[in-house]
Amino acid sequence: MAAANLELFPPCLVLQDEHDNSHQHEHFRGGLTAGSYKFLRLFNLQSTKLFTCFLGIFVSYLIFGIVQESIVKGTYGKNDKFTFILSLVFFLCVFNAIVSKIILIFSKSHRDSTPSKMYAFSSFTYLFAMLSSNYALEFVSYPMQVLGKSVKPVPVMLLGVLVAKKRYPLEKYFYVLLIVLGVVLFMYKEPKETTKIVQAGEIFGIGEFLLFVSLVFDGLTGGIQDKIRDKHKVQAYHMMFAMNTWSCLWASIGIIATGEFYSLIEFLKTYPYVISNIFLLGITGAVGQNFIFLTIECFGPLTCSIFTTTRKFFTILCSILIFGNPITFRQMCGTVLVFLGLFLEQLQNETDGESTLHCKKKRVLNRQEMNSVFHIIVRRLSTQQNHYKLVIIGAGCGGLACAAKLAKKLPKDSIAIIDKNDTHIYQPGWTLVGAGLKTAEELEKPQSQFIPQNTTWIQSYANKIEPEKNLVQLDDGSKISYDYLIVAAGIEMNFNKIKGAVDALDNDPQHVISIYTRKYVRNVFNTLNNFRGGQAIFTFPMMPIKCPGAPQKIMYLAEDLFRRNNVRDKTTVIYNTSLPVIFGVKKYAAALMEIIKERNIQLNTRLNLVEVRAKSKEAIFENLDQPGTMKTFKYDILHIGAPMQPFEFLAKSPLADATGFVDVVKETLQHKKFPNVFGIGDCTNIPTSKTAAAIAGSNSILVRNLSNLMFGTNNPVRKYDGYTSCPLVTGYNKCILAEFDFDGNPLETLPINQGKERRLSYILKKDVMPTMYWKMLITGNWNGPAVFRKLFHLGGTK
Ligand SMILES: Cc1cc2nc3c(=O)[nH]c(=O)nc-3n(C[C@H](O)[C@H](O)[C@H](O)COP(=O)(O)OP(=O)(O)OC[C@H]3O[C@@H](n4cnc5c(N)ncnc54)[C@H](O)[C@@H]3O)c2cc1C
Repeated sequence: MAAANLELFPPCLVLQDEHDNSHQHEHFRGGLTAGSYKFLRLFNLQSTKLFTCFLGIFVSYLIFGIVQESIVKGTYGKNDKFTFILSLVFFLCVFNAIVSKIILIFSKSHRDSTPSKMYAFSSFTYLFAMLSSNYALEFVSYPMQVLGKSVKPVPVMLLGVLVAKKRYPLEKYFYVLLIVLGVVLFMYKEPKETTKIVQAGEIFGIGEFLLFVSLVFDGLTGGIQDKIRDKHKVQAYHMMFAMNTWSCLWASIGIIATGEFYSLIEFLKTYPYVISNIFLLGITGAVGQNFIFLTIECFGPLTCSIFTTTRKFFTILCSILIFGNPITFRQMCGTVLVFLGLFLEQLQNETDGESTLHCKKKRVLNRQEMNSVFHIIVRRLSTQQNHYKLVIIGAGCGGLACAAKLAKKLPKDSIAIIDKNDTHIYQPGWTLVGAGLKTAEELEKPQSQFIPQNTTWIQSYANKIEPEKNLVQLDDGSKISYDYLIVAAGIEMNFNKIKGAVDALDNDPQHVISIYTRKYVRNVFNTLNNFRGGQAIFTFPMMPIKCPGAPQKIMYLAEDLFRRNNVRDKTTVIYNTSLPVIFGVKKYAAALMEIIKERNIQLNTRLNLVEVRAKSKEAIFENLDQPGTMKTFKYDILHIGAPMQPFEFLAKSPLADATGFVDVVKETLQHKKFPNVFGIGDCTNIPTSKTAAAIAGSNSILVRNLSNLMFGTNNPVRKYDGYTSCPLVTGYNKCILAEFDFDGNPLETLPINQGKERRLSYILKKDVMPTMYWKMLITGNWNGPAVFRKLFHLGGTK
């Protein structure tokens, strides 16, 4: 392959060069059409898929190069040469345009709204880049040309620093320095024996200048294509088609204007076998381009860049070993340095997710990651999954609060949020729905409204976590990998833990109800409001449950309703709880004991509902102090506090503690064994009440700790004190606003005694908190009331 040029005509004008910066490739993710997906389904095994993609790129571009060499460098007849470079470019563009058009037809994709002038301009700059790089070949060797075209990060950084005043992480300067050093080593010419002086022109001659011009035009093309993608959300094949069609036009004008066309016809008449070579060239180019798209789609831009860079390295090796292209040991060292720099640079692009380009952070790669660059390559190539810098499992209250905050810190598409649920529910409002104060519909909004814009929402459930491999498996069997993980999957309600409960809830909603779950909460108010007296039993299940105040809140509201409906004197209200006390915090427990005494509510502790006999309207409770001893209660209304449990996929994962909850350090929310994993909300084993309020009090702490880890910063972090809140609604216009920490110490925000029933607390619960939830908490703008607490108490509180 002496002086052969595999890069002579990069086969697709969409990517200005097969090896491009990963951020350019990134834009093609998700841009693949239905047709490509059908094609993808042919590959079932991930490993086969990866190998196929690698082989596809490697083989097609190798053949492309060999054929290209035989066309361009071969000798025809006695001494004829193929000099019709513009015409060859024209044919390649025709091939690419046809292939992309066929794919567009089969994929039935949307129309491309990009104005033609944008394509016209970028295809023109692209042609110019190609011509200058090809013309450069007349002055430099083939390995030099490949190397020269590979050093794109150098002008990108130069322009970034000098023109756009960008700042990059230190490591990136180092990698670019490696590339520059490598190029200098490669280009350095030994002084001639006679003069011992090297002229500047001998190092940087016309060939090198043309390569530089080609890079600048590549950059211009890339810039315009970025704009097109950002503004018009254009799909890869649309761009491929338009760019190639326009390039055909420009090239054909050139061919006719220079008279090359007529000479080519004469040439082909004399040497007709060249036509089949041109066909082969076009086909391998188009096939190679499709494998590039597939690799980006299946394995991400990093894997693709690694493939193409490796391919280029081997191309140079082939050129040296097989085709005898002369290269010195120094030049070989230079080549290795360039490719090492390129690899590291690509890895960093992947790890910091383009942040350098957007200049959002000063330092992006932490030490731990830097030490494991090799690990990243291995992981990426072995997992072969979609990769995200941050994966969040669960788009409930905790997941969204963190996602919204982190989406402001991380570049576009670095965060994936996994959750199948397409409706977001304000669960704390279910108590109010049960009391007829709100409708269930009022509490529900489309999830899509709250998923932060620059994140990826994966509408699936996670069903397995492999934290040792940084992998999450989805319910369709596919896997995604992450650098950091936040688990915020909530807690599972399971009425099946109580024999007969589901049957009674489903079939006897006039007597058996529950405010827990979207389905059952709709029956509660009707049943309570239509009640005409008898025995009303409210149960509290075994811990842990979310919002432990809820089972008694609905009881107080029901009791108030019975009074308002004049059936209270015909009703016995009973509260059977598995706990030894009415509430876990002494101050509020004392206040609640007063209320139940005053309102004649029977309290039975250490009783756990184990069975519902709908036919005989009997509820069977186990006495927890005498296990195995049952107590039967007749009921006319039975409100069931839902038993809960950790989700099985979490309980079975290495992230769980013995109880099945995510095992995190309670003050930092960082996992105890896997430092790149954090947990928030109901799914964790944090020893505080599982509430949205606890998430408000802890989300900023998680985000700060995770950010410190991600960006290698050392910003001060407040330790989570366990702040949680339980607005204990005790009637239609009163509420005790409990707020407390890990140790059950009150942490009241208002400068009044919140342990007293107050209308203000009721208004806060009914009218203010829902708005705060929707507008502030899940949008990442609410860090709990600590600041106000300090303000109201003039700093005299925690
Ligand atoms: C009746 C009731 C009353 C309440 N009252 C109050 C109150 O007054 N004050 C208060 O602060 N809190 C209250 N809460 C508690 C509060 O709603 C929860 O603590 C809070 O919603 C927990 O948020 P989370 O993000 O941990 O879980 P959730 O908000 O439940 O979100 C979990 C998300 O994870 C998703 N998910 C589950 N499994 C998977 C999986 N395998 N893969 C991917 N995603 C998954 C779910 O679809 C869900 O969207 C109440 C709750 C109830 C039920």
